[in-house]
Amino acid sequence: MGNVFGAGDDDLYLSNGGTAVFVDVLTLAVSALAGGPWDHRFAALVAMQDQSMMGRGAVGFDLADLDWGATSEERAAAKAFVLKVLDLAARRHRWEELDYEPPFAEGYVRRFREIVAAFDPADADPDDAFPDTPLMACCVRHRVLSGLPYWEGCVFCHR
Ligand SMILES: [Zn+2]
Repeated sequence: MGNVFGAGDDDLYLSNGGTAVFVDVLTLAVSALAGGPWDHRFAALVAMQDQSMMGRGAVGFDLADLDWGATSEERAAAKAFVLKVLDLAARRHRWEELDYEPPFAEGYVRRFREIVAAFDPADADPDDAFPDTPLMACCVRHRVLSGLPYWEGCVFCHR
């Protein structure tokens, strides 16, 4: 069992263990870069990929289900933000703080970046998969965005 992250048939399939690593490195990167409301909604989407809270094998998302914005400018800014997050993750942002070696994580991030780069947000047909409420608070212990108001703590708290 695993989880799928992608856009239609262009997807990244990860085992549950691979997913946990992917979500850890995305959490570290998105927490460093999130500025505006859309960024914090994307951070909430990343938090929703926490299998300790959602169930193992019960996460994943399709880029076409996300609300990328009402105008082409908004959609371009949103896509640029996601690519920036993936670029930071590919540069191993704060990976030295992980309590394990993530030998495959860079490959996951680079593959997902290709999928996002090839995706046109104008083709999205948003559903309720994209969280409306941005993440509001930091986990002081782990210095990343906390899952509040969805739940207490961050993905690292839930280990
Ligand atoms: Zn935490």
